[in-house]
Amino acid sequence: MSSTLRARLVIVPALLITGFSASAIDEITVSLSGNTAAATVSPVTLAGDMIDNVFVPRTGNALSLEPPLPPLNLGTFDIVISPGPTLAGNAAALAAFNRAALAWEARISDPITITINADLAVLGAGILGSTSSVLLQGSYTTIRDAMVADASNEADDTITASLPTSGQFVATIPGGTTLSPTLTGSKANLKALGFAGLDGAFGTSDGSITFNTTFAFDFDNSNGVGAGLFDFETIAAHEIGHALGFSSFVDSVNAGATSVQLLTLDLYRFANNTAADPGTALDFTVFARSQIPGVDAITDEINGVTPERRMSTGLTNVSFPGTDGRQASHWKADELTGNFIGLMDPTLAPGQFYGPQDSDFRALDLIGYEIAPVPEPTAILVAAGLLGIAGLRERRKTQSRRCEERGWRT
Ligand SMILES: [Zn+2]
Repeated sequence: MSSTLRARLVIVPALLITGFSASAIDEITVSLSGNTAAATVSPVTLAGDMIDNVFVPRTGNALSLEPPLPPLNLGTFDIVISPGPTLAGNAAALAAFNRAALAWEARISDPITITINADLAVLGAGILGSTSSVLLQGSYTTIRDAMVADASNEADDTITASLPTSGQFVATIPGGTTLSPTLTGSKANLKALGFAGLDGAFGTSDGSITFNTTFAFDFDNSNGVGAGLFDFETIAAHEIGHALGFSSFVDSVNAGATSVQLLTLDLYRFANNTAADPGTALDFTVFARSQIPGVDAITDEINGVTPERRMSTGLTNVSFPGTDGRQASHWKADELTGNFIGLMDPTLAPGQFYGPQDSDFRALDLIGYEIAPVPEPTAILVAAGLLGIAGLRERRKTQSRRCEERGWRT
């Protein structure tokens, strides 16, 4: 990045931090200014900053949701799995991985190809799978304007037009850190935003996914998931979600990053139930985005059926009291709230299986993907579907309470 992109930080004294309970954290609210220079998109290596997005196991009983819709063949959105030797030698695993890709392809219509390298290997204890996304970074204005332009033809994405300009942008970050005048997205995300030529410039891979061979997987959930086994297809779909762009820089802050470089989804991340929790589109423009681990945070889109969805707040860290022990690049864990939000939940229990939910597609919609609505089913299917969902919800509540009593472990 050129030197013209350095941040000029303006410290706003304690303006928007009322309501934070984590009083031990030194927080500052800063704005961006002077960030008018256009920049080409360039690769970014956040050495020592960006930790892999991981999916971890938990105790608990089986949850299963309706299997994903069959592909709607909307366009030419394509996820290509490039298997490493171990995955290539496991036909059942590779088939499950491709079904997971199909679940995303079913409702995404951007005419792009995403290439994901994947394999199985020994990972750290308590990690089911891990994703390293190829990240690209541009000036705040370059990426923000692309997000606004991409959503301009989508009637349900009007909030995107209220994303702050560089002159309006404010974020709350830890004291001692600086706010970068950039936005970062996964390479897949930037393809969806219309940036062209990225494969040629930066290589074809959009990310690498690794599954932990330490765990026992079920590679075919069509007849349920075997006792004590983890559903490979669910983990694959979850990790693909990270590669597509479901991530937060809060995890990097938690890991010690001193230059705060927001990711695209972070533009919707606010402190929940505080003075900085927006209620109107104008609030959404001018309120501070929250980048503090341990702060109860939401992805907020102001309007719609579900205007707010809670997020995880970070791995346990003595520097940031209040973290919930889950990577911030996820929805809030259902075992903590009794409310299952979607596939990008941070934990998975043996026997559980589910695909991407409306919430997950919606998050991608907000960062620049074209998401097709679910087609109207017949009346008979509506009735059957409602019954099925109602039953699952009730079981879920019971299981979540049981899980909380047992506690969570990795
Ligand atoms: Zn994850």
